[in-house]
Amino acid sequence: MKILLAEDDSRIVRDVGETLTGAGYVVEYESNGKEVWFLGDTNDYAAIVLDLGLPGMDGLTILKKWRDNGCTTPILVLTARGTWSERVEGIDAGADDYLPKPFEMDELLARLRCIIRRSTGHGAPTITVGGLKLDPKQMRVSVGGIPKTLTPQEYRLLSYLMHHNDRVVPQHELAEQLQGDHEQRASNAIGVLVGRLRRKLGKNLIETRRGFGYIIGSAQS
Ligand code: CA
Repeated sequence: MKILLAEDDSRIVRDVGETLTGAGYVVEYESNGKEVWFLGDTNDYAAIVLDLGLPGMDGLTILKKWRDNGCTTPILVLTARGTWSERVEGIDAGADDYLPKPFEMDELLARLRCIIRRSTGHGAPTITVGGLKLDPKQMRVSVGGIPKTLTPQEYRLLSYLMHHNDRVVPQHELAEQLQGDHEQRASNAIGVLVGRLRRKLGKNLIETRRGFGYIIGSAQS
């Protein structure tokens, strides 16, 4: 899953970037407000972490423009300490949650997991599809209670399909969510990953809808 990190404080960018990458997300960074607005307007992200104080265009303006344009991406805003009015304005402008600075990385991750699962229609902290269980906090996957070991790329793909288990996910969408800006996009990479997941988790779990994409667990439901 790909996260847009919109922040101009390089220390926070480094710390949050490392934390998100370590938690299995693909991260795109941008510090200039106008660029942030453009990226959010033209790309699909699993979630956006938005600092309200950005150069070029302020976060509240960006947020309002995105929402006015129909953007439904879950957004977590970062606010300066003590400015409760900023938090209220942020939520009124369409933020899903906020986090005042300074914050603990564990809290950032918990809030992100929460807004991502709510945006994809999941209430519980773990997602179950048939006998397959995904725990985004522990980054653990099990089938019928038996733990499975996945590579980071396999985990990202499976996590995205499980969060979106109500629909067929197109191949290009998976490719976009799995790879950062500067990584090479291999057209067969998704097919190869799906093949490996089938070998590890069971061959009927992920169904290929030729010409459309992939859906997980539809045979069980
Ligand atoms: Ca700032």
